[in-house]
Amino acid sequence: MDETATPDHHAQPKLNLGLPEPALRDLDLDLDGDTLREECGVFGIFGHSEAAAITALGLHALQHRGQEAAGIVSYDGARFHSERRLGLVGDTFSRGEVIDRLPGGTAVGHVRYSTTGATILRNVQPLFAELATGGFAVGHNGNLTNGLLLRRELIRGGAMMQSTTDTEVILHLVAQSKRSQFVDRFIEALRALEGAYSLVCLTNKKLIGARDPLGIRPLVLGELDGCPILTSETCALDIIGARYIRDIDPGEIIVFDESGAQSHKPFPPKPPRPCIFEYIYFARPDSIVGGRSVYEVRKAFGAQLARESHVDVDVVVPVPDSGVPAAVGYAQHSGVPFELGIIRNHYVGRTFIQPTQSIREYGVRMKHNANRAAIEGKRIILIDDSLVRGTTSKKIVRMMRDGGAREVHFRLASPPILYPDYYGIDLPDRGGLLAATHSLEEMREIIGADSLAFLSVDGMYRAMGFAGRDPANPKFADHCFTGAYPTHLTDQTQIEPQPRQLSLLAEAS
Ligand code: AMP
Repeated sequence: MDETATPDHHAQPKLNLGLPEPALRDLDLDLDGDTLREECGVFGIFGHSEAAAITALGLHALQHRGQEAAGIVSYDGARFHSERRLGLVGDTFSRGEVIDRLPGGTAVGHVRYSTTGATILRNVQPLFAELATGGFAVGHNGNLTNGLLLRRELIRGGAMMQSTTDTEVILHLVAQSKRSQFVDRFIEALRALEGAYSLVCLTNKKLIGARDPLGIRPLVLGELDGCPILTSETCALDIIGARYIRDIDPGEIIVFDESGAQSHKPFPPKPPRPCIFEYIYFARPDSIVGGRSVYEVRKAFGAQLARESHVDVDVVVPVPDSGVPAAVGYAQHSGVPFELGIIRNHYVGRTFIQPTQSIREYGVRMKHNANRAAIEGKRIILIDDSLVRGTTSKKIVRMMRDGGAREVHFRLASPPILYPDYYGIDLPDRGGLLAATHSLEEMREIIGADSLAFLSVDGMYRAMGFAGRDPANPKFADHCFTGAYPTHLTDQTQIEPQPRQLSLLAEAS
């Protein structure tokens, strides 16, 4: 496939990561309609004899970031190999014969969740293309806010798109760059992008990671047996016994090849705006995101919630699993006993990660059951991380009453979600967001709770150690709650909806 092959990485060279030793030790730290939104996780490893198997394990730890499809591309020193499938990581990559088809010392992988219509094989990442410079694979977590505009410009210029994902524009931009060095071509491509991207990329010589200038989505660097790893969350490092080194900085491009690591920072520095929703819901609680334990942040949200809106109750009940750490924090702060009043069936995926509303509703019933022993005759306070459409809360409140609870109070460990996200967290448009279209009292009535309260925006910041939200320097991408989008929304503001260009392909594959 690739004519400019490099030596096989099976030799497992001990890589100089290019980082000074102290740094190594200093660790503790749609318009298209077919959707341009994605929730994803990425993983890449360079120079390890079991690259694909390790990548599969890493992706397994990132499964919560995307459950609809998974893919791995490896490079064996002469050829690229690709396995991309719909379904869970374990469905495909637990099978030895699939891993055997991914030989080589370097691999990148991706788990993906997308909204309706895009669950088609040609959208499953990592995307791969043969460029003039050789093979190039890219896995993307995030969402471009000018992806549609770029796509249209590229198509007008003669590009033939194979997928409907915004990620594909990155391949084309790299392909069209006139720069001679690959890294320069890559950087030139990134300069055209607006929005959120954490990328892991593979060429015949390099593993490349890149994070958008605001660092909206996470990306961390780790190391296993002297081999660098790039991945979305530290939980993917833990599963393979890898060491966390540091977060990739916002706007940083890091390149690993036989000569070591080079870090590039080609963009003018800006105050970072990592997405606060990673802490609220998206990241796994055992991950360290931006130097903070997600679990501890969620507990602090719960404690703050107790400070802000406690009522006299007998037990604190988490909505599993997403509400558990906040409920622990709430119970610890309020002194009210913590009880598992809802038992979760672990063999059902995340409720929300189902493409249609009817399936989602069915999913909620399949997923949770009341634990009568913990709630009967009691006044309970339910804690969940967030309320989106209200589907979960409504069903859970009813379930608690049917299970014998005397009073059911509902608390959310995040503020009301008033605005959609365009950076890779799948949230409905404003019309689908319960809080955007209803008052607090209306929501309480719809949900059927005795009382309802959300964490305040300032309280969310206080729980993270700030005095409150500083509008001049918000620190996080918190647009879902405030409407303060951290980038331009070019596709939303500049492009008129028009018939899909790829409609003939939309249901294929
Ligand atoms: P809903 O039932 O529509 O109100 O959604 C709220 C539930 O979905 C909560 O239990 C959250 O844990 C979960 N959730 C919130 N945001 C998301 C998201 N972007 N993707 C998947 N699940 C989510």
